Amino acid sequence: MNCDQLREHYELYALGIAEEPERGEIRDHINRGCEVCGAGVKRALETAALLGASAPAAQPSPQLRHRILASVGSEQRRFGFAWVPVFAMAALLLVVAAYFAVSNRRYADDAARLRSQSARLRVQMRAQAAEIVRLTEAFAILSGPSTTEASFGGKQPQPPRGKVFVNPSRGVLLIASNLPRTPADKIYEMWIIPKGAKPVPAGLFQSQDDGSAMHVRPGMVDLASTAAVAVTVENEAGADQPTTTPLIVAALAP
Ligand SMILES: [Zn+2]
Repeated sequence: MNCDQLREHYELYALGIAEEPERGEIRDHINRGCEVCGAGVKRALETAALLGASAPAAQPSPQLRHRILASVGSEQRRFGFAWVPVFAMAALLLVVAAYFAVSNRRYADDAARLRSQSARLRVQMRAQAAEIVRLTEAFAILSGPSTTEASFGGKQPQPPRGKVFVNPSRGVLLIASNLPRTPADKIYEMWIIPKGAKPVPAGLFQSQDDGSAMHVRPGMVDLASTAAVAVTVENEAGADQPTTTPLIVAALAP
């Protein structure tokens, strides 16, 4: 296999869950000093390490790791064992729904409760589908050959820290840790800051309970005219322009 065919397996390899024959092929490339695969796996390892290091060692960011693993699962559909986590989830929901249906026959007067439960399941399934779309976008940015990355927060004592990945045709992915919880009615807003122009809003997100966050702004990015990616705290509805000092500024290489 050539490097191009192996490119999208670097993350799987770094996480230790690549399948054969790709795993062996990547190992061979690295063993014979392939610079493309070496650099790709190094980057994937850094990302994996970042995810692992985004919380104290005793509590390695389970949410974020789970999400990335889930994104890996959704990636596998191209190779046939497809959507296994999604199907597993859907199957589980069907079992739960069937259980509620049986309960409902037994307790006919619980119809209202059943309706609210099945409505909740539908909402969960929709949220799950949206999450898979988001993770697929994130994975496309991570594994894109023309993706540029920038770190932030490494030198601060109390940092949100992490990385941004920018792919000109696929968008911007932000992975952060140590984010403080936002005050009530506030939210994080990401900005793409062009050189010599006003910041452009790039979406709203909240951090997880463990302080980690993953945010994707899909779509084209003109890398040459972009100076930095930043994050501020804004009112829930978001703002057109930043109204607070950014907690995250990731400057892109000129
Ligand atoms: Zn190679």
